[in-house]
Amino acid sequence: MNALNADLHCHSTASDGTLAPADVIRRAKANGVDLLALTDHDELLGLDEAETEAREIGLRFVPGVEISVSWLDQTLHIVGLGIDPANSALIAGLAQVRGGRDGRAARIAAELERIGIPGALEGALAYAGNPALLSRAHFARFLVEKGCAKNVHDVFLHYLARGKPGYVEHVWATLEDALGWIKGAGGLAVIAHPGRYRLSHAEMDILLETFRDQGGDAVEVSCGAHDGGQVLAFARLARKFGLLASRASDFHGPEDSPIDLGRAPPLPPDLTPVWTRLQ
Ligand code: AMP
Ligand code: MN
Ligand code: MN
Ligand code: MN
Repeated sequence: MNALNADLHCHSTASDGTLAPADVIRRAKANGVDLLALTDHDELLGLDEAETEAREIGLRFVPGVEISVSWLDQTLHIVGLGIDPANSALIAGLAQVRGGRDGRAARIAAELERIGIPGALEGALAYAGNPALLSRAHFARFLVEKGCAKNVHDVFLHYLARGKPGYVEHVWATLEDALGWIKGAGGLAVIAHPGRYRLSHAEMDILLETFRDQGGDAVEVSCGAHDGGQVLAFARLARKFGLLASRASDFHGPEDSPIDLGRAPPLPPDLTPVWTRLQ
C-alpha cells in the first residue's frame, strides 16, 4: 500500500455519480481515504458542498474536474486537480462544454426511439441530479430499468458505445483548451483511465508526448478501469514520458462501480505520485 491512501478521481450527483457530494466525502473517510479529489464531468457544482463536509470531518480535499475532450477520433477525459473553482476562464470553458450535452442527449433519445425504446430523454433525466449534466450513465440506468440489460456495465456492451445503438458522435473541448483551462486555474492535468481509449501504441505515445509538451502533468496508472497488466503498461509509459502518476477509483456510486473509494491498487513504488505536487 502507498503510505498515503489518495483517491484523485470520483463523481457525485453534480454529474453522473449517485451520491451527493457530502456523502462521497463521508464514504471516503469511512473507507480510510487520506486525500480525496471530487472530479465531476465538466462541472464544478459539487465542490463547495464537498469541501465544507471535508473540513467538517477532517478529510484532506482537492477540488477537481474531469473535462471531456475530442482528440483524433476519440473522446478523452482530462482530470484537473487543485483547480481554483472561481477561475472565470475555467468556468466559461466548462459552461461551453456542458452546453453541447442537451442537444446530444436529444439525439441519443431519438436513436433509442428508432430501435423501439421511447421516453429515454425523460427516463434519463429522472436519474440526473444535475439536469445540465446529462451523461450516458443516466441513459444506462434508464436502460437497466427498462430491462434492456442487467446492469450498467452490460448496457455499454450493447448500447451507447461507439458502433452500438444509442451512440451519437459529439465534439467536445480540444486538448489544448482543456489544458489551458486547468493550468490557467492553477491545477495539475491528468490523463484519466488511458487504458479505455482505442488508440494504437504509436497513437498512445503521440498522445502522451503531446500532452506533456502542452503542459500536462500526470497519467492515471492505477484506476478502476485498469487490470494488473494495464497498471504495469501505463507505469512504463509514465517513466518513458516523464509524467507523474495518479491513483483513482473513478467511483460513481455503490451500485455502479467496480472499485470503491480508496480501493484502487497501489502505484508502483518508483513512480512519483501526482499528489506530491498538490499544495
Ligand atoms: P458521457 O460523458 O455522457 O459520454 O458519459 C460517459 C460516462 O458513461 C462515463 O463517465 C461513465 O460514467 C459511463 N460509462 C461509459 N462507458 C462505460 C462502461 N463501459 N461501463 C460503465 N460505465 C460507462
Ligand atoms: Mn461518468
Ligand atoms: Mn472518465
Ligand atoms: Mn470519471
